[in-house]
Amino acid sequence: MDIEKEVLEVDILVVGAGPAGLSFGYHLANLIKKSEGRVSMPEIIIADKGSYPGAHSLSGAVLNPRALLELMPDYLEKDIPFEKKVHTDSMLYLTEQSKFKLPFLPESLRNDGNYIISLNKFSSWMAEQVEAMEVNIFPETGAYELIVENGQVTGVQTVDLGLDKEGNPRSNFEPGSFIKAKVIVLAEGVHGSLTKQAYSKLNIGAGKLPQSYLTGVKEVWEIPEGRLDDGEIIHTFGWPLPLEEYGGGFVYDMGGNMAAVGFAVGLNSPNPTNDPHFLMQKFKTHPEIRRIFEGGQMLHYGAKTIPEGGYYAMPKLHHDGLLLIGDSAGFLNSQKLKGIHLAMKSGMLAAETVFEALEKDDYSAATLKGMENRFENSWAKEELYKVRNFHAGFEDGLIMGLAHSGLQMITGGSGIFNRRKSHPDYKHMMQIDDYVARKGNEAVEKNIKYDNKYTFDKLTDVFRSGTKHEEEQPSHLVIADFEICNTKCTEEYGNPCQYFCPAQVYEMVDNEEKPGHKKLMLTPSNCVHCKTCDIADPYQIITWVTPEGGGGPNYTNM
Ligand code: SF4
Repeated sequence: MDIEKEVLEVDILVVGAGPAGLSFGYHLANLIKKSEGRVSMPEIIIADKGSYPGAHSLSGAVLNPRALLELMPDYLEKDIPFEKKVHTDSMLYLTEQSKFKLPFLPESLRNDGNYIISLNKFSSWMAEQVEAMEVNIFPETGAYELIVENGQVTGVQTVDLGLDKEGNPRSNFEPGSFIKAKVIVLAEGVHGSLTKQAYSKLNIGAGKLPQSYLTGVKEVWEIPEGRLDDGEIIHTFGWPLPLEEYGGGFVYDMGGNMAAVGFAVGLNSPNPTNDPHFLMQKFKTHPEIRRIFEGGQMLHYGAKTIPEGGYYAMPKLHHDGLLLIGDSAGFLNSQKLKGIHLAMKSGMLAAETVFEALEKDDYSAATLKGMENRFENSWAKEELYKVRNFHAGFEDGLIMGLAHSGLQMITGGSGIFNRRKSHPDYKHMMQIDDYVARKGNEAVEKNIKYDNKYTFDKLTDVFRSGTKHEEEQPSHLVIADFEICNTKCTEEYGNPCQYFCPAQVYEMVDNEEKPGHKKLMLTPSNCVHCKTCDIADPYQIITWVTPEGGGGPNYTNM
């Protein structure tokens, strides 16, 4: 379709209103104000695909306030939505019926001084602070394509509104626009679709290890009084995962008889029926977890991926006209599975870089390269470098991973090997017959009958995520070849998409044209935007593209 698009020109465009993008906006506006007229306020726009800032923000979440203190030293005077300060911190190893509490937690794993938060409430609060600094936030604005002209990033194209499922304009059609900017800051969160384009168009991953991911699912519950101590957090490893798989569970007190429960599992699992939602439901059936949540009420649900590849898997952070920050660039401490403080710090480092670019009126790679230098000289680099091999240590399973991480702690992070070669997550998936032959049928059985009171099927959970999309629009899950799904993938892998998607977007249904066969059916309106499918599909034929702005989850208290 050849339709002329409106061109908007701004100075700085940030894609994503999560903690990284908002910290960028706040810090840049602050630096400009402090310059007392030496640098004039540019037009800064933060565009976000959610229906409001924070609608798509989800994390465990335990916040290390280090970056927040640097960004906004008076944050405690600003009615900040902390749920609880962490008071009790434990790590449990679970077997099917028992638990073993680690007698002590090494300093690197402790949460002294940290806060339990709801990331979506925190992001909404930050957005208010940022808007008060004269930075514009545009919600419901889906960025669809990164525009690169003569090797330079010059803007983004936003999503067309009002197309039907076949891509034809409806009566309410409104073409998307080109937003041109001197600098585009990608703060899209994990595995963003423009970030993925930056990898392919600009080769920003050259010489780096492939990023590796977990998918985490989370429920927020109202629980009976007295089940958790004040500010208590519990982390677990072991059951229900087998020893060779990476992941674990968590329970956090959120105050007011509210609690979060979640489970995260590596997408480098060999199991083609790896199902993060099922694993969380199973996790809740453990006696130690059941005693906390039984008799309560599940209120909210969500899912997201987590970039855990570490320092060596981070892409180049700059290009002509482009900076990458936050989860988009892999700013996550994989040992602690904490990234909010690092995302915020990365936003601040990018703001300092753009401030310099504004001073010089030079937005080329030569100036934006300052982002790399600032990062290399920051505490964020120091923190990430100490755990640079943590994830790679678990490539050989839990026991070896624990041994490796112990060695890394006493060798400053290098351990037995440094910068171990790794493969993209999807390459770890085994074919279904091989996996069953190795592990037995029980390893692929989904042996829980959901009662929808304590354990929930995917659709009931998705309903609690507030997810909505305009139904009449092209599918934002683009499958390159359905024939592969309906034949080759069924035979080889048993259609893993129906398991790894935590929102029941992918289902194998009877194929009326081929009796006795199944075919793939998509329900894109269920999608919670976690990106698992784009990462984990063994044939890499699923592409997640940005749907109409405002679509997706509407998280509250997540
Ligand atoms: Fe996540 Fe993909 Fe399912 Fe959407 S369709 S919820 S991005 S796995």
